[in-house]
Amino acid sequence: MKFGFDIDDTLLNLREHAFKIYNQKLERDVGIDVFRALTTIPVHDAFGLTVEEGRELWNEHRDEIYYSAPPFEEAVEVLRELVRQGHEVYYVTARSAEHCERTKAAILEAGFPVEDGRFYCGMADLEKADIIRKLKLDYYFDDKPVVLGTLEGLELRVYVKDNSYNRHLEIPRIVNWTELLDIIQG
Ligand SMILES: [Mg+2]
Repeated sequence: MKFGFDIDDTLLNLREHAFKIYNQKLERDVGIDVFRALTTIPVHDAFGLTVEEGRELWNEHRDEIYYSAPPFEEAVEVLRELVRQGHEVYYVTARSAEHCERTKAAILEAGFPVEDGRFYCGMADLEKADIIRKLKLDYYFDDKPVVLGTLEGLELRVYVKDNSYNRHLEIPRIVNWTELLDIIQG
């Protein structure tokens, strides 16, 4: 079967990593409970910053955040297991074009299986549905409500990777990646 994955906050724990980096850079000590209670995708609210200040901070530290964010627990192992079982793994990330090559290299470096022709990058959030449909994926995983909202009506199984800003979505949910192996065995 064909499995498609978003990268940021689906496979990589990007926001929590950004939150920790912001704490360091701003010399603050905002608690992780504040992060966990956020219902917004940007994390600057946790620091009392305006949208503009948040954007500046993000732009300033984006490269560091992108290329040092760790995978969620078991994400690498589970995707490797999918490949071992003969499944196809695809990545569909809306990171901008200038980050595509480095992102692919970083994902490989982290241990994720990446095969030729199965890394899609640089599209807009709203263009993901088109790619997912053309690839004829059987499963797709993403964290972002606006993306998941575009996939209704497509013939595939869609799961949301659990995050504090997507708990209102009533679609099947992955909290820990090991659950995926149970789902495909079930
Ligand atoms: Mg994402």
